[in-house]
Amino acid sequence: MELLIGKTAGFCFGVERAVEGATSELKKEKEIFCLGEIVHNKEVIKDLKKQGLKFISDLNDGKNKVIIRAHGVEKNIYEKAKEKGIELIDLTCPKVLKIHKIVQEYAQKGFYIFLIGKKEHPETVGTVSYCGENVYIIEDSETVDDAIESFNNKKSDKVLVICQTTFSLSEYQKIIKSIVSKIDNHIEVEIKNTICSATKLRQEETTELASKVDAMIIIGGKNSSNTNKLYEISKKITETFIVENKQEINFQQMKKYKKIGIMAGASTPKKSIEEIVEILQSMW
Ligand code: SF4
Repeated sequence: MELLIGKTAGFCFGVERAVEGATSELKKEKEIFCLGEIVHNKEVIKDLKKQGLKFISDLNDGKNKVIIRAHGVEKNIYEKAKEKGIELIDLTCPKVLKIHKIVQEYAQKGFYIFLIGKKEHPETVGTVSYCGENVYIIEDSETVDDAIESFNNKKSDKVLVICQTTFSLSEYQKIIKSIVSKIDNHIEVEIKNTICSATKLRQEETTELASKVDAMIIIGGKNSSNTNKLYEISKKITETFIVENKQEINFQQMKKYKKIGIMAGASTPKKSIEEIVEILQSMW
């Protein structure tokens, strides 16, 4: 039996930065809050809770110091914190901050914004707040017609197309193709592929690994957008299991596979990967 472990499996730069930032703050202060989940992984949250971090869903429930998660928050949170005298420790990933800056600039220049992303995802919610009034969220290629209709009603003549950092690369390409083929030729369309390199690399490696093995195990939070994308990609190629931790694996069932691939989302801690690999290795 052979195990192929993805080189890019686990923490990306932005998640590493957020978790390290929170850990170092917890060494300095007794009471620190985090607005929303710092990253989308239960094991990471559990570990930070143990160290004393308190998670809140409303800024009003926080005081003194509040951490801003890796995938950012809405624009008004910064103003509210100032009013309430709360110090924000902003651990938003620089790649997300860059998107906020771009949409703000283009909104000021009069562009209508097509934001490719999932409506409910915290990053999308945050980004929308920087877009002003003229924004439409495109969740999949079926939403493109509605986005164009909404844009036509606004009588604008330029569109910016931008994307959530953890969106699926193949779905993004499908959406772009559809926009380009459907939008009026006279419209100025600027396309910025802001899917981050960490997402791209993990998706590419998952495709490669999945095509070499009999089964794949994708490790990561069920609420993690990029982990779910890896699962979607892999299950189209081979038998695939998505698990958050070792407790969720039926190791006996794994015995029937000769070659197993292991991948993990960008918010999955090393520990979760190592624990699973160790058990699998000890079985053969
Ligand atoms: S997935 Fe990309 S954008 Fe998100 S935290 Fe990681 S590096 Fe930043």
